[in-house]
Amino acid sequence: MLQTQLRTHTCGELTLSQVNANVTLCGWVQRSRDLGGMTFIDLRDRYGITQLTFNMESHKEQCEKARKLGREFVIQVKGKVTERSNKNLKIPTGEIELVVEFIELLNASLNPPFTIEDNTDGGEELRMKYRYLDLRREPVRKALELRHKLALEVRQYLDKQKFLEVETPVLIKSTPEGARDFVVPSRMNAGEFYALPQSPQTFKQLLMVGGFDRYFQIVKCFRDEDLRADRQPEFTQIDCEMCFVERKDVLQVFEGMVRHLFRSVKNVDIPALPHITYADAMRNYGNDKPDTRFDMKFVELKSPAPNPEKTIDTVSGKNFKIFDTSPLVAGICAEGCGEYTRKQLDELTEFVKRPQIGASGLVYVRCMNDGSIKSSVDKFYSADDLKKWAEAFDAKPGDLILLLAGETNKTRKALSELRLEMGTRMGLRDPNTFSCLWVVDFPLLEWNEEQQRWYAMHHPFTAPNPEDMHLLETDPGSIRANTYDMVINGVEIGGGSIRIHDKQAQAQVFKRLGFTDQQAQEQFGFLMNAFQYGAPPHGGIAFGFDRLCSLFGGADIIRDYIAFPKNNSGRDVMIDAPSVLDDKQLEELSIKVSLGS
Ligand code: ASP
Repeated sequence: MLQTQLRTHTCGELTLSQVNANVTLCGWVQRSRDLGGMTFIDLRDRYGITQLTFNMESHKEQCEKARKLGREFVIQVKGKVTERSNKNLKIPTGEIELVVEFIELLNASLNPPFTIEDNTDGGEELRMKYRYLDLRREPVRKALELRHKLALEVRQYLDKQKFLEVETPVLIKSTPEGARDFVVPSRMNAGEFYALPQSPQTFKQLLMVGGFDRYFQIVKCFRDEDLRADRQPEFTQIDCEMCFVERKDVLQVFEGMVRHLFRSVKNVDIPALPHITYADAMRNYGNDKPDTRFDMKFVELKSPAPNPEKTIDTVSGKNFKIFDTSPLVAGICAEGCGEYTRKQLDELTEFVKRPQIGASGLVYVRCMNDGSIKSSVDKFYSADDLKKWAEAFDAKPGDLILLLAGETNKTRKALSELRLEMGTRMGLRDPNTFSCLWVVDFPLLEWNEEQQRWYAMHHPFTAPNPEDMHLLETDPGSIRANTYDMVINGVEIGGGSIRIHDKQAQAQVFKRLGFTDQQAQEQFGFLMNAFQYGAPPHGGIAFGFDRLCSLFGGADIIRDYIAFPKNNSGRDVMIDAPSVLDDKQLEELSIKVSLGS
């Protein structure tokens, strides 16, 4: 029941069925029009907009009060629901209006710095500074309603699957792995600091040692990273862990969760998720989070990792130097783009040569509608050569083949960007189409050239594929991890792994990561000690909740799905944080600040 002492109905619910009812509404003045004898006001609350009419003849005093109201004034009105002569069928309340007999001003408002309408005139920074006004706009409210609904459905699904929501601490210990920690000084322990969790990873594993069996938490996490467009320093994860499971079990439960969310929130049925390995994702899409809303897989004309079923080198030996010297020559086939103009092809060449993409050039092969094939390398290759390439790509008349060449990883990355660009140009990336998959078997370790050491690609608690464990000393780079990422429309929505649950194995991995026994004990002793008391086999996953919301909302920007987000420099411009502390506070915290000389 939304009826309170101050209102009988909301601004979103009155329709023809309440005609003649006497009602009381409260809300904000969205807009008013004074037509002399009549004044109209659009009254807004969270539920919608109702038109109010004030009649100068019958209710002079009320009408005069109404004329004085400014935008965003808060009022209470009493009156009779009446059928409108001039109906607005775009809104649910558009067939009625409230003929006001009594009005009370509940609060005045300053003139808002931007219009509170769907298409506002307010820029991003201004809207963030006055976020409480921005929140009154329908698109922002809808985004947060979607977030609420998703959180609710997550809880319902996981509860049915016997998961328990458990809160883990926010003031924890700083660890050197992963991103940078946000730290909090401890007043009572001078010179010591807590860290805010980058994720509840170790706690959820300890909950498994504690026998909780199935845990989840919709939880704030904090990472002090350089901010990119869609990163927030604090963000929310759906964090989960399970006992006595293998990878297959985890995938099944969480594939179920995501399908449940699509069904209950978007009324969309998602087919079973395909699994692809990291190695295949890189070979076919040049990307560990491929956008599979469209196919356009890579085809290699020359490759350093020969695929025995295919011809490996159909490009070398024709005096085209770049192809002769590059370890990888690969491309994509853009269906129906064979008649691209010179200008369009030049644009694509410019695109791949941008420093962020980094290719040295683009070779194109146009399969013309008349069956002929034209390319930008006609000088070096015969019609027969080009025909062979077209066959390798399964290209038909009217298709366009785009080829890049160079060092393997770099070329794959650049080709991935080109593939996405072509997907966008060809209208193949509809935000209302969803393509979900699992990417599995990521490498366990990643070599950091700068620091000359191995890093855990996921995190140091990830179990290696048991078949690969023997490579830990000899060939650490080729060990596959027992990991999985859920990718939807080219976005990594979730990721997790089966964990190491054995003290010895964990110690071995720490050693490979360059920890001395003492360092490992200092940093993660609590976990390794716990593993000695009957740690069960376990694994889990975490989903980026903000991203999931923006994906469901069909938007790119996660900020829109957070009630009070930070800007791109990590600032909250509304409350003006971060901010300096006064000397007394610093002294209590035993902190000396020197801001450089
Ligand atoms: N804690 C991991 C993360 O935040 C996810 C997981 O392994 O469950 O990426």
